[in-house]
Amino acid sequence: MPKICIDPGHAGRNTDPGAVNPATGLQEADVTLIISRLVQKYLTAAGCEVMLTRTDWEQAETDNLSYRTELANSWGADVFVSLHCNSASNPSAAGFEVWTSPGQTQGDRLATCIYNQIAGEFPDRYGRVDYSDGDPDKESRFYVLTQTDAPACLVEMAFVSNAEEAALLANPTWQDRMARAIARGVTDYFAGDTI
Ligand SMILES: [Zn+2]
Repeated sequence: MPKICIDPGHAGRNTDPGAVNPATGLQEADVTLIISRLVQKYLTAAGCEVMLTRTDWEQAETDNLSYRTELANSWGADVFVSLHCNSASNPSAAGFEVWTSPGQTQGDRLATCIYNQIAGEFPDRYGRVDYSDGDPDKESRFYVLTQTDAPACLVEMAFVSNAEEAALLANPTWQDRMARAIARGVTDYFAGDTI
């Protein structure tokens, strides 16, 4: 039974809400937990063992990224998937990204599986292949890719700073579709199927 560690980005609300939409108040930390819980549900149903690095709306200890990576490493995760939402000063910036650290071949394959499933589920969303105008905390987020023993990737699901995408990120139907796409990407990885 594969052991999947899902990492809901940011510590929550007062500690670190992540990106916040200035018009609606939508917080990245809330969205990442909601979708992580759904990914957990689908992967558990698919026969995986799943752990979340943050399980509550606010957990101050998760603001320390080493808490998250040590949790995954001591548990013996087979893969590590970190979920985030993007933001940019340009409100029209949009789309999704899947990141991995350089030189980790299995992490690259995991990222490709997840990227392909998101692209297939959301043909109307833009798959971003570079990061010229993204979230300013990218270096701290990369920490979870370089300090995890398991193959790891980080998904920027959509832009909280974009009005249209913030509405999608807050939509339960869209959240469920994104969670299922990510879960399928993980199961594809274990099936050796990158299509
Ligand atoms: Zn983030």
